[in-house]
This record gives sequence, structure tokens and C-alpha cells, in this order.
Amino acid sequence: MIPLADALLPWHRDHGRHDLPWQRDRSPYRVWISEIMLQQTQVATVIPYFERFVQRFPDVVTLADAPLDEVLHLWSGLGYYARARNLHRAAQRVRDEFAGRFPATFAQIEGLPGIGRSTAGAILALARGERFPILDGNARRVLARAFGITGAPGERAFEQRLWVLAEENTPRAQVEAYTQAIMDLGATVCVRRRPLCPLCPLRDCCIAHRTHREHLIPAPRARARGVRRVREVVMLVAQREDGAVLLERRAPAGIWGGLWCLPEFTSESAARSYAASQLEGVALAAQTLTPVPHAFTHFDLVITPLLAHCRDGGSIAEEGRALWYDIRSPARVGLPAPVQLILASLT
Ligand code: SF4
Repeated sequence: MIPLADALLPWHRDHGRHDLPWQRDRSPYRVWISEIMLQQTQVATVIPYFERFVQRFPDVVTLADAPLDEVLHLWSGLGYYARARNLHRAAQRVRDEFAGRFPATFAQIEGLPGIGRSTAGAILALARGERFPILDGNARRVLARAFGITGAPGERAFEQRLWVLAEENTPRAQVEAYTQAIMDLGATVCVRRRPLCPLCPLRDCCIAHRTHREHLIPAPRARARGVRRVREVVMLVAQREDGAVLLERRAPAGIWGGLWCLPEFTSESAARSYAASQLEGVALAAQTLTPVPHAFTHFDLVITPLLAHCRDGGSIAEEGRALWYDIRSPARVGLPAPVQLILASLT
């Protein structure tokens, strides 16, 4: 057995990250917010989002009481918006079922929307020093390489083997430091492409390194091996004479669920006939704007904006699912990153 904690704890003392915003005042609430934001997102990207978020929502009840639009507004650009919707729902459960106090047991925490085994373990380990293993992307990569476990994330046998190793290697003391250490090692040294093995405290015992298979472990997820799909859509940029732009709220589930978006169509002709029939005094620009690409996990989206100037919006924004968005004094609602880009190009 590799003495993982013995190697990682001294390394973390000297080379780990000790001054991240969520490491100050480590309450379960703050650790929870940071862990959700850090899923599929780099630390440097998360820091400003985290600081704005906890400034506006300093505790779980403030978050629960806030409108979802405001939560999504502060999440805009961070992606994977189901995380924000689940965070809001979970906060409301904590307010209503736990009298506003973050629950204490693993089962209660894991039962909240959007919190899986690893996140529940991380909250208890980092905020309360309780001995629970984690298996986020970073820990998974370190364990798989150190112990030479082949397979791909998401494969049942691979995940089960790694959970056993995560459990066995979590020490009885200094759980908080160990948990932070394995996450930091995965994020800064044992990175996905070109790990920095000469700097690694596990280099002498790591099986992947000793057998020159760092680049093969873990294998890419099955879906990542295929050819990426490309989806093309047209978005109508309907702008009134006062500069306001028409946005529609997307359905609660699915891509960009609950966010406000430019009306989306599968073709330019569909966008044109919608504009002609729904908007008053509409004049469509002769040309479309520069296409905006956006990468999702499973596919690439290419958005062609179609500009339409209209005298008046008519009654279109009265249904509650549409609004005229004032670019100069924007409403606090959630916008997908490419929509933000298109709107910024208008000013
Ligand atoms: S030696 Fe290399 S592959 Fe092994 S854990 Fe360290 S950085 Fe990762």
C-alpha cells in the first residue's frame, strides 16, 4: 500500500493552496458553494464568482429567499446552470426542513439536490474535519495513476475500485488537510495532460509513472472519444428604437434552463417569419451578424445572430416569459455567456 497521506501532508504544507476565499471562514455553507462551483470549473475562474455570490448570499437562508433569476444572474458565464438551480432548491430545503441550519449528517447532506457522495464527503471533511473520502475529478486522477487503476471515469468497476482506495487512504487525523492536499495535487501537479511528475511527492511509488503510463490513465470518458456534434441555430436579436432587446426565458430544465436567451430558431427563415408576425414595424437587417461558437461538453453550438430593428415590441413581453432587456441598465437575470457576448457587441 502506498502511504498516500504520509507523502501528501508534508507536500501540502509547503506547496498546497492555503489562501483560497472558501478556506477563510470554512463553514459548511461556504464549502458547499465552492465545491459546487468547482465542479468542471477551474479555481481561477471560480474565485470572482464565489466572492460575488457569498457577498450577495452570505448564508443559506438569504440564498433560499432570493429569486432564482438573481441566483442565475450571479452564475451567468459559469456554465452548467443545473448546478445553480439545484443550489437554490437545496437552500430552500435547508431553510424549510432544517430550520435554516446546514444539516449535520452525511445522509442528510447527500439527500439535498445536486449533492453527490463526493461533495457531501468534501463538505464534512473540509468544514468539520470528519473522516469521509472524496472522489472528485482531481482525486480520481491521482488515485487512478498512483495505484495504476485502468478504466474510464463513469465505468462502474473503475469507480468502485477508486472509492475503495479513497476510503482506505483517507487518514484518521488531519482529514481536512489531506482532502485539500489530494485536490491540490490533482489540480496543480497531477494534471490531465502532461502531469509534472518530477515535482510530485508520489513519484517514487506511483505505478502510472513507474510504468510510463501517466498519459493513459485514466482513459477518456467513452463519449469524449467520439466525433463531436455541431449544432447550428439562429438567434433573433430584436432591438427596439430605445435600444432594448427581446429576451425569452428558457424552460426550467435542459440547456440554459431558467436563463434568459435570445429567441432561438433552427433556420433563418423561421426567425424571419417569427419577427414578421410577432414584432411591430420590424425591419430585418440585410445581413446576419458574425456567428458565435460555444462549446458544450457533448457538442459545439454555432449561433448566427439575425438583427431586427422594430418600432415597438407590441404585447410580446406581457406574458412573463419574455422581457425587453435594457442593455444600458440591465435587469439582474441569468444570461448564457454567448448571449452576453452578442448583447455586448451591440453597444
Ligand atoms: S507521479 Fe505523476 S502521474 Fe503519478 S501521481 Fe504524481 S504527477 Fe500523477
